[in-house]
Amino acid sequence: MRLKNKVALITGGNSGIGLATAKVFLAEGAKVIITGRNPETLAAAQKTLGEGVLALKVDVTDVAATERAFAEAAAEFGRFDILFANAGIGGATPLGQTSLEQFERIISTNLTAVFFTVQSALPHLNDGASVILNGSVHAVLGMPGWSAYAATKGAVRSMTRNMASELAPRGIRVNQVTPGGTKTPIWAPYSQTPDAAAALEERIGGMSALGRMSEAEEIAKAALYFASDDSSNVTGIEITVDGGATSAPSGAKIFRAA
Ligand code: NDP
Repeated sequence: MRLKNKVALITGGNSGIGLATAKVFLAEGAKVIITGRNPETLAAAQKTLGEGVLALKVDVTDVAATERAFAEAAAEFGRFDILFANAGIGGATPLGQTSLEQFERIISTNLTAVFFTVQSALPHLNDGASVILNGSVHAVLGMPGWSAYAATKGAVRSMTRNMASELAPRGIRVNQVTPGGTKTPIWAPYSQTPDAAAALEERIGGMSALGRMSEAEEIAKAALYFASDDSSNVTGIEITVDGGATSAPSGAKIFRAA
């Protein structure tokens, strides 16, 4: 058990990568708190994860509510050893077709709220805790139509380094998981029929050297490394789980076809 008796808080723990990480952390002996907005998926996640998991309904863009929820969680479960700032949204923002509101919604959820998630957790974090931020390969991909999302994930990448340096005096480590295309409900708007889902999976998977999308559990296992003492002298880095899409793109099927 690599997380025995550790208390872990996971934002967006009711879906996708956050839910998969909650399962992995629980299996490794952690006490887990999950947050999310959707009461149905929160209740379903709590049921799947089992007794002893605290599920809190809170919108990460509401700083005061986040501070209250984290204080409540700490009062019930004790101080946190692990924080996974995972909650986030996707969404295209093509030039010429994007409103200020659409752009700012992505910035406030994926960037501003990540900062305030860490700040709100800080009074309840043990010295030596592990903070994990969730980035994305979009930080470096240059994908047309995704400026706001890519900008938030580039900013998260910078914040990982800033926070690692800032929190080092307390022995708090700050690292980042960087997923490539991963099979989660975030893709639901683009895969509403089985055919659309298969085509999307083929297209995204085809952009990576290993030729497939990641499973959420594969990101969770990278988060586990950062959460556990296996990474006790590791801070300010990222682990990219993308089948080589960013490091070895020439291996992708689209480039190999002869
Ligand atoms: P999901 O849509 O499955 O999960 C997103 C989670 O974030 C949900 O639990 C959702 O809760 C929560 N969330 C979103 N907005 C808010 C909010 N305002 N307040 C509270 N919770 C919120 O997607 P993923 O698991 O894929 O996404 C998790 C993270 O992984 C995101 O940061 C995403 O950018 C990142 N990522 C995902 C990739 C992928 O291909 N899947 C690739 C690269 C990065 P609720 O539904 O209750 O609102």
